[in-house]
Amino acid sequence: MTTTNNTKQFAILGSPVSHTLSPMMHNFIAEKNNIDMEYRAFDVSSDAFDEFFTNIKTSRFLGFNITAPHKISVMKHLDVISDDAKKIGSVNTVVNKNGVWHGYNTDGDGFCESLLIEGHCIRDKHILLMGAGGAARSLCCKLAEKGAKSITVTARTMEKVHIIGDMLEQYTDVKFYDTIQRSSTYDFVINTTPLGMHPYEEKNPCDFMDMISERTVCCDLIYNPEKTEFLKAAEKRKATIINGLGMLVCQGILAFELFHDITLDRKLFYDLLMKKLSNF
Ligand code: NAP
Repeated sequence: MTTTNNTKQFAILGSPVSHTLSPMMHNFIAEKNNIDMEYRAFDVSSDAFDEFFTNIKTSRFLGFNITAPHKISVMKHLDVISDDAKKIGSVNTVVNKNGVWHGYNTDGDGFCESLLIEGHCIRDKHILLMGAGGAARSLCCKLAEKGAKSITVTARTMEKVHIIGDMLEQYTDVKFYDTIQRSSTYDFVINTTPLGMHPYEEKNPCDFMDMISERTVCCDLIYNPEKTEFLKAAEKRKATIINGLGMLVCQGILAFELFHDITLDRKLFYDLLMKKLSNF
C-alpha cells in the first residue's frame, strides 16, 4: 500500500494490541469504499498514555480506536464526549473533527447491532450478564435502550454491579436485579468476564447451566477461542450460541462510520468481515 500526504491516518491505541484485528477490518472496509487511508496499531502502556496521546493529537491523525487499558484515561483529553459515552463512563472511538476531539462508545451498539443482524430481538427480553466491567456497562446501557424487559448482572465485585444498577435507574425504566432470579427464564445469558480466554481457557463463569435451554441465546464477548467453555456447555444444552466476533465487527463498522462520517451497508460489511476474520 502506498501512502501520500493526503492519506488519512487512523490507529488503535491499547496494550497489548499485537493480536488486534482492527487494522485489518478498517483497511478492508476502506479498500472496498475507495478511501485513501492507513490504520495502524500502537502499543501504549498506561504510564506512557497521557504523553503519547497529547503528542499524537498534534499530528495528522483523524481518529483512534481506544482499547484496554485506556478507555477511561483518554476521556480527559477530549473536547466533546457523546451522551452515551458519558453514561457508560468510557470511550472506545475518538474522532478529530476540524481540530475538535470527540469521544464515543460503540461497544454496546456493536453488540446490539450484531444480535439484530443475526436475527435476535432484544425488546421485552429478560437478560442476564455475567461480569460488571466496562463492556457490561456499555451493553446494559444499550440493551435497556433497545427495550429489554429486565437486566440482571452478577459479578464478584458487587460495587460494580450497583454502579450499573444506578446508571440504569437514572437513565432507563428497565427492571434491574443484582442477583440471579432462580424462578426466571432468561432469554439471553451473556458472558462479559475474561473467563474462557487465555489464561482462563478452562473456566466457565456460568454456575447455573441448568437454567439454560434450547430457548436461551448464550453470548460470549470472547472470540478467541471461538467457542469458550461456557459456549460449549450451552451448546450441549441446545442453546443458540454467539461469540464476540460479531460484536467486534459491528463496533468496528460503527467506528468506521464515525471516522469517515458515512453510512455503510452494515449487513454487507458484517457478512464480508465475518467471513474474512473467521479464517484468522
Ligand atoms: P473489565 O472492565 O476488566 O471487566 C471484566 C469483568 O470481569 C469485571 O466484572 C471483573 O470483575 C470480571 N472478572 C475479571 N476476572 C475475573 C475472574 N478471574 N473471575 C471472575 N470475574 C472476573 O473488562 P471489559 O472491558 O468489560 O471486557 C470484558 C471482556 O469482554 C473481555 O474478555 C474483553 O476481551 C471482552 N470484550 C470484547 C469485545 C468485542 O468486541 N468482542 C469488546 C469489549 C470487550 P472485577 O471487577 O472484580 O475484576
